[in-house]
Amino acid sequence: HGDTEALLDALARIDERIHEERAYLTELDSRIGDADHGNNLARGVGAVTDKRDELAGMALDEAVKTVGTTLISEVGGAAGPLYGGSVMAASRELEGGLDAESALAFARAYREKLMERGDARPGDKTMVDAVVPAVHTFQRAIEEDDLPPVDALAKAVDAARRGVEYTVPLRASKGRASYLGLRAVGHRDPGATSTLFVLEELLATAE
Ligand code: ADP
Ligand code: MG
Ligand code: MG
Repeated sequence: HGDTEALLDALARIDERIHEERAYLTELDSRIGDADHGNNLARGVGAVTDKRDELAGMALDEAVKTVGTTLISEVGGAAGPLYGGSVMAASRELEGGLDAESALAFARAYREKLMERGDARPGDKTMVDAVVPAVHTFQRAIEEDDLPPVDALAKAVDAARRGVEYTVPLRASKGRASYLGLRAVGHRDPGATSTLFVLEELLATAE
């Protein structure tokens, strides 16, 4: 299970990063939500890390599916079903292992499930604002520019970073922040920001 090894490396990095950023993510959520996003995610990735030995014995798609179900049951709130459900649904694209084609199929399926579940569009000030430009850029880099997956992922991370900044001046149309109206303006979306951190760690693993 060589691909599962790489997944475990990525998960360890993501766990570490989310714990490092826990207070920051919770601080972002305190401005436009209920101050729990960092804690929700830290609990979720911690539960995934607790399953490390179990995951190590699985094929990649099964391991990723288990990550998704674990996130659904441990993260809670809005982010749990959105992150976890999207990971779970997209996991089936990895049945044949990991290559440029299956990575792209995973990314597209993740975006599709996320937008279906949350019913959010770009500009609604949610994690969709990081995911949509990232997946679009990843797809173009692979299919049109013929870049190696790592270089495509690097471009996708840059696009996600711009997507996070794009959330700052927006009002929110979905999630708790939507109750704030104009008061949400001037704040970075927590879920888009955590999505960027996850993508940065995936890139660091691939490099
Ligand atoms: P909760 O809002 O239930 O406390 P979290 O704080 O863990 O959950 O997650 C909040 C994040 O979830 C937001 O910053 C936003 O990015 C994301 N989010 C909320 N609602 C939606 C939605 N309908 N579609 C996409 N993302 C959403
Ligand atoms: Mg919250
Ligand atoms: Mg909450």
